[in-house]
Amino acid sequence: MEHFDVLVVGAGPAGSATAIHLTRAGARVLLADRARFPRDKPCGGGLTGRALRHAPCPVDPVVEHVVDRFRIRLRYGPSFSRRHDRPLILMTQRRRLDLHLAEQAVAAGADFRDGSRATEIEIGETHVRAKVGGTTVRADTLVGADGANGIVARAAGLGESIASGVALEGNVPYGAIDRSRVDGTAEIELGVVPGGYGWMFPKGDHANLGVGGWGSEGPRLRVHLARLCRAHGLAVEALSDVRGHRLPMRTVGRAVGSEPRSQSSVSAQRVLLVGDAAGLVDPLSGDGIYEAFVSAELAAEAILSGDLSAYETRLSAALDHNASASWAAKRALDRSAAACFWAARSPGVFGVVTGLLAGDVRHPSEARGLARPPLRALARLARIASPVP
Ligand SMILES: Cc1cc2nc3c(=O)[nH]c(=O)nc-3n(C[C@H](O)[C@H](O)[C@H](O)COP(=O)(O)OP(=O)(O)OC[C@H]3O[C@@H](n4cnc5c(N)ncnc54)[C@H](O)[C@@H]3O)c2cc1C
Repeated sequence: MEHFDVLVVGAGPAGSATAIHLTRAGARVLLADRARFPRDKPCGGGLTGRALRHAPCPVDPVVEHVVDRFRIRLRYGPSFSRRHDRPLILMTQRRRLDLHLAEQAVAAGADFRDGSRATEIEIGETHVRAKVGGTTVRADTLVGADGANGIVARAAGLGESIASGVALEGNVPYGAIDRSRVDGTAEIELGVVPGGYGWMFPKGDHANLGVGGWGSEGPRLRVHLARLCRAHGLAVEALSDVRGHRLPMRTVGRAVGSEPRSQSSVSAQRVLLVGDAAGLVDPLSGDGIYEAFVSAELAAEAILSGDLSAYETRLSAALDHNASASWAAKRALDRSAAACFWAARSPGVFGVVTGLLAGDVRHPSEARGLARPPLRALARLARIASPVP
């Protein structure tokens, strides 16, 4: 039977990044994905500055468009734009990014097997065992990087306290939509989907349009997407590759001392969860690639140190501040999209948003100057808004 130091199930950003870190440090890693690569994944494909800081390798070869401007609109009515003097988001497509990352894992020395579903996972005292594409393998440690609907969390009895959002997206070629309108611009639509927003992102030869919100919005997402298209002068039939996916968002508990504490469990003896499998999607933005990269880094660190129990605390320390701010902003957005729109256009607030996206600001409460009053008003609004449904 083949034996590995680590079996990583799933070769999305979380799994490939984990494999890259581990193999670079000399571990023998099997990286398995049930899909044949290149494969796509429903995703806006936006890489924020904070995600890039934690990327396991340069991603330049797969960047299609650079965004330095936001246009924010309220209920398809009033809007405003803000431009930054540096790139805000790099746009890629997931079939390109994920293939690139898997190739980097191979270059670092990982054994990558695509078209190989992991099944029959058994977690023992001294090792784990699984069938990977029909072959039984053993490993000292198992990393569940198998996304929102993964089996590793279930097999290990992990992944509790995860709320689900949903999102639906599709692509439209330039021509059907005027490229000059979207060039360098991420368009965000507030107040159009409960628990979320609509977007239009520019890519190389097309624009990506999508809507996301609370899990309960699932049955209405097609209607929300059709409205978004109409607001951009498009018929929903103009979209190709329309696909939906779950957004797993772990809830963050009450502050213990001054630290917010996560309630979910992402590690067990011999098993760690990373990325969407651990429910790490940002509740406000729906982003998860930054969190996938951070969790990959921390999981690899814990495995290499031989102490898996340190992982959960380090993950919480790295991500819970952001997540608790995002939950609060999400509650405020649900309570009053108009108040959030007003706050977002207030002087100084764009600087805080760019700081958060770049990873220079950890929490809006760090804001100083003109940005403080509108952000405090939003924090108050979040406190009186209803909790997570
Ligand atoms: C519509 C939408 C838009 C989004 N837009 C953005 C965005 O613009 N920016 C951003 O940062 N995030 C975005 N996200 C979130 C982002 O897509 C996820 O957070 C990210 O994909 C998480 O990466 P991952 O590696 O954890 O999981 P995934 O990318 O889901 O990868 C999991 C992998 O596991 C494999 N797998 C599953 N089960 C098995 C098995 N049993 N055996 C072997 N392999 C298995 C799957 O084939 C898959 O390749 C968006 C999400 C949605 C739904």
